[in-house]
Amino acid sequence: MKRILKISLLVVTMQAAWAQETPKWQGKFEQLDQILPTPNEYRSGSGAPGPKYWQQKADYVINVELNDENQSVTGSETITYHNNSPDVLRYLWLQLDQNKLAEGNMTQKTRATTLRDSVDAKTAGSTYNLYDFDGGFKIKSVKDAGGKELPHLVNYTMMRIDLPQPLNPGQKYTFSIDWSYNINDGVRVRERTQFEYFPEDGNYSYVIAQWFPRMCVYDDYEGWQNKQFLGQGEFALPFGDYKVKITVPADHIVGATGQLKNAEAVLSKEQVDRLNKAKTSFDKPVIIATQQEAVQREKTKLKEKKTWEFQAENVRDFAFATSRKFIWDAQAVKIGSKTPLAMSFYPKEGNPLWEKESTKAVKNAIEVYSRMTIDYPYPVAISVHAAHQGMEYPMICFNYGRPAKDGTYTPAVRKGMIGVIVHEVGHNFFPMIINNDERQTTWMDEGVNTFVQLVTEIERYPDVDFDRGKPAALVPYMKGDRTTMRPLMINSEQVIQFGNEQYAKAGTGLFMLRETIMGRELFDKAFKEYANRWAFKHPKPADFFRTMEDASAVDLDWFWKGWFYTTDVCDQSIDQVKWFKMRKEETDPEKKNLKVKQGDLNADGSEKKFDNFNNGPEPFSLTNTDPRMYGEFRSTIDDKAIMQKLDNKNIYEVTLSNKGGLVMPVIIQWTYKDGSKEIERIPAEIWRINETKVTKVFVKDKEVTNIVIDPYQEVTDINAQDNTFPKTASSKFDDFKKKN
Ligand SMILES: [Zn+2]
Repeated sequence: MKRILKISLLVVTMQAAWAQETPKWQGKFEQLDQILPTPNEYRSGSGAPGPKYWQQKADYVINVELNDENQSVTGSETITYHNNSPDVLRYLWLQLDQNKLAEGNMTQKTRATTLRDSVDAKTAGSTYNLYDFDGGFKIKSVKDAGGKELPHLVNYTMMRIDLPQPLNPGQKYTFSIDWSYNINDGVRVRERTQFEYFPEDGNYSYVIAQWFPRMCVYDDYEGWQNKQFLGQGEFALPFGDYKVKITVPADHIVGATGQLKNAEAVLSKEQVDRLNKAKTSFDKPVIIATQQEAVQREKTKLKEKKTWEFQAENVRDFAFATSRKFIWDAQAVKIGSKTPLAMSFYPKEGNPLWEKESTKAVKNAIEVYSRMTIDYPYPVAISVHAAHQGMEYPMICFNYGRPAKDGTYTPAVRKGMIGVIVHEVGHNFFPMIINNDERQTTWMDEGVNTFVQLVTEIERYPDVDFDRGKPAALVPYMKGDRTTMRPLMINSEQVIQFGNEQYAKAGTGLFMLRETIMGRELFDKAFKEYANRWAFKHPKPADFFRTMEDASAVDLDWFWKGWFYTTDVCDQSIDQVKWFKMRKEETDPEKKNLKVKQGDLNADGSEKKFDNFNNGPEPFSLTNTDPRMYGEFRSTIDDKAIMQKLDNKNIYEVTLSNKGGLVMPVIIQWTYKDGSKEIERIPAEIWRINETKVTKVFVKDKEVTNIVIDPYQEVTDINAQDNTFPKTASSKFDDFKKKN
């Protein structure tokens, strides 16, 4: 009883001392359950879809005509909407993305703009909306299956259709919309979809997307996702099957989401043969439409029309590209039991770069992404060359990277082009298959995709210095202006540093999880689990956070909290290192130093400076165990054996600070007198008791000459100057500068 009392008294004194030296506890290792939504039967606590998970389905039959004379689109669609929810629906919401360019659009109204003493005409034109562009959907009719007009209401980029009868759970509803719109010229009005005009031959190339009224997502999480499209936040779309007929000038070549169903009707006999040859060409692309043929078509400019028919199953969207300028190549890729075609469409202005690199990059992307997530399930994966574009849709994406007029290109152009193709093709997985809500949570597609992009680039392009997603590359941002930083868990319309955060910081977070925090084996297993659980479904952030922990036994709540919910930065420092050696038995035969305690070791009583190893080790005494220490135990330990363990060892007491706020693992590199090095990895949990300062003792056989933390720049430490001991001359000089 007495002894217990004594102990609790000791605890109290320790706590008092603690409270004085410990800054406010911030709960950095507390669990996230106060922040995450409560698991339910739709979404499980494990991060998997729950037993009653459901999602809606929207099937489309669309006929569209592209008018090359006035650069417009005229379409008519029949949508069959399947209500798989347990809810009765009285109205439907559709997205009218083209209305972002309509007269009086919300994007323009709510955009903050400034004026300087000098502005170039191109910037002024787009910033102050000076182009006379008649954009936006012209909705001609909304009708039910019997041809009766349906009441509908347009609210900027959203359209509500009121149903004549409530749509019950398990029912489907079919209706039709006719519309048209003018296509924007990419050089004036920059969008994810555009036409480009080539003055030298008088032709256009089109990348057509967000071109038809598309169903909104209705889900268990927020009902209708009908947040307005302002420009930065992309799309939330349900899965469905598409049958699309695209009518274009007869000499156009069309690339689109889905499988071409009438190749014989739209291609020459030769082209059909080449396409068939491509289906078994695994080592290199086969040119289906040659540059020579493309140049010929540029001149003929046929007035007749042809209709290309495509079919796509289980996709969240449909896009296409068309031009008489297109060259087309394709090759087969082996993915599990499937052999999808990697294809590219590009005008001659893209060559010679595009014929060399595009399809290869498509192949590299779907191979590596398939290994990291799920096997690429679609029949084609297409990269289309469009000026200043980097945009993704199911099975098809639009990419920049154009050589100079003489066909030459710099390594930077090649790097940019490969990077954007791998990235946009990668979007097939995030968000086209693992279908997150891009409008609400951008990092779930952009950040996750940036990470797998980097894995692909490092593996397939070792000669190119790709670094977006590597911790060291993020440091300049992390060091930057904190007032413009926003946490990753924020809606994309409020983000200022979009690329640095939703892409780079989120991607770097996953890179660090894989390389530093979890290790490749655990990370890869958990990441693949997430992909498998949520392929062809709609995951939310909590589903990702929970799955990564559920499948790995790594508690990452501290990481999600710090990296995703705050703008804290990592700045670890070595504050102090003390070097000790145990006193030899013979030097202290009478054990005079029995009461020696930590930090009070100087024989001469003077305070010693520990800013290098030059003064040699401090002695410390290992005393025999006081019998009272055994309490109720009758047995004892062998004091001598413990002494032998420490005999002649170099013992280092290292004090570290967390100055940035973000808790991270501590990676210590020890350099020994004989020149050898050792890396020690300490999990972030070392900060769980004291979030800002920690002291730890290390026992080493060899003498240490130098200690560095984060030697490989793995944790985005924003100040490496305080990461070494002894301090280098330059860091001392920096300290001096700071003080003066
Ligand atoms: Zn992207």
